[in-house]
Amino acid sequence: MQEPDIPGNEAERLRALRLLDILDTAPEARFDRITHLAQRLFDAPIVLISLIDTDRQWFKSRQGLDVCETPRNISFCGHAILDDNILYVPDATRDPRFRDNPLVTGEPNIRFYAGAPLHVTSGARIGTLCLIDRRARNLSKEKLADLRHLADWVEDELNRVRLGEATAIIRAHEERLRTLLDNVAEAILTVNTTGQVLSANASAEDMFALPAEKLSGMDLHALLPRITIEQCAEQLRQDTDDDQGVPKWNYLTVARRMNGIEIPINLTVTMLRRQSETAYIVSVRHISDAERLDLMKREFISIVSHELRTPLTSIRGALGLVVGGAAGPISDKADEMLTIAERNCERLISLVNDILDLEKIELGRLSFNPVNLNLRSAIESAVSFSNEYAAGFGVSLKTTIRLPDELCMRVDEARLAQVLTNLISNAVKFSPSGGTVEISAELREDTQSVLISVRDQGPGIPPEMREHIFEKFRQLESPHALSKGGSGLGLSIAKAITEAFGGDIGVQCPAEGGSVFFLDLPITSDAVTR
Ligand code: ADP
Repeated sequence: MQEPDIPGNEAERLRALRLLDILDTAPEARFDRITHLAQRLFDAPIVLISLIDTDRQWFKSRQGLDVCETPRNISFCGHAILDDNILYVPDATRDPRFRDNPLVTGEPNIRFYAGAPLHVTSGARIGTLCLIDRRARNLSKEKLADLRHLADWVEDELNRVRLGEATAIIRAHEERLRTLLDNVAEAILTVNTTGQVLSANASAEDMFALPAEKLSGMDLHALLPRITIEQCAEQLRQDTDDDQGVPKWNYLTVARRMNGIEIPINLTVTMLRRQSETAYIVSVRHISDAERLDLMKREFISIVSHELRTPLTSIRGALGLVVGGAAGPISDKADEMLTIAERNCERLISLVNDILDLEKIELGRLSFNPVNLNLRSAIESAVSFSNEYAAGFGVSLKTTIRLPDELCMRVDEARLAQVLTNLISNAVKFSPSGGTVEISAELREDTQSVLISVRDQGPGIPPEMREHIFEKFRQLESPHALSKGGSGLGLSIAKAITEAFGGDIGVQCPAEGGSVFFLDLPITSDAVTR
């Protein structure tokens, strides 16, 4: 006996069969009707709709047979699904594949078999509609074609289940999406490329005070009077050029309600591409005047800072060259004035850099480039960088590092230096002339971290202000503190960076006076001792 081969696409075939969810289900009239008809049409004692499972054939509909399944390895249908054509066996006793098959030699004593394979929509063959007789017989071409027609009908019925289910799933999906859309606070419109509104959610109805049917078909420009669809398209095109992500345009503008009142909004436009069709999703959020002012202020600061940085950097370069004598000798008076200008230029640049960092922090775009950094040399280089600055204030720096020489940590070198120099320069600024700033570092076995502290002999921080000085633009209000200049941004940036490292930053003021700023950096699994 020849066992049926396993088709090349067996896994896909079985997946398709399982997807039908039909195995071991109750008989159904829509299939029994077909097998019954086939029994009469072909005068066949047995007619089956057989589905080929992993190692059995299971009958969804059967006429003239009592069992509901038989093993796959002795099945005729297992052979029939190997080909698209009908498997036609006029006399099994004369066919070497089936002659000694137990279904031929014993019950139900098959002699004649004709099985038309059943396909699902993907093309996989999952079973057959088959005719069986206990006597050998022939079937004309026309009759075989009829069998194929009936098998097509079975296929339609099998796939109809899937289609029905798929439609139900899509409907449920659509309903969920609709509920979601109608419950978001933003007004959401879809708009075509000519600016015509295609659909609107419930919030859009509220915002524009119009029902969705009226909004559909309206020109976007009538709802958002200060923008045009061409402008949206142009902005999205620019965003596509700048960025790899989904093009998106954010803009502060106004929406006009049907009573003519204009309200401030935050607009977000994204592009929706479906095959050859393009549409826009326009999402509109009502914002308060205060929020609008705040956003405009932030945008203004960011534009000004960007525009300032380049000219300032070149002024600093030029001043440095002149002070250094590159443009010829200058008088002592001019040298003095240019040095002041250079110093102030330096302060402006660091203020602009702080504002840019702050903007990046707020947008979550502060970038880090972690490297394996030797902590001892990172601390030493931050201290040596600050030496000249400290000398200008008549302050000396003292370093005590109690760390294994080779302790490395995976952190961004420039950002760690930024935090350390900020703490050191603050400590220097607030120290009395002739004072000392002590920078120390030690391993904390208990918390598996490195504690870096910067201690000064300055006025200290009042207890109620210790938390607040890490907020942006916070400066102590004592006349002493204000006279030191600065932007009030350094510590808030230092906190954001330290937290990005997974560490902690804080301040303590010992009883003997002064303040101790500390950084507690966790020793991650990346930390190495080389
Ligand atoms: P900036 O120093 O640029 O004003 P920071 O964010 O670095 O901004 O510091 C915020 C405020 O915290 C300072 O203005 C100052 O009032 C206070 N401060 C910071 N460091 C010290 C210190 N070592 N001693 C006393 N006050 C300090």
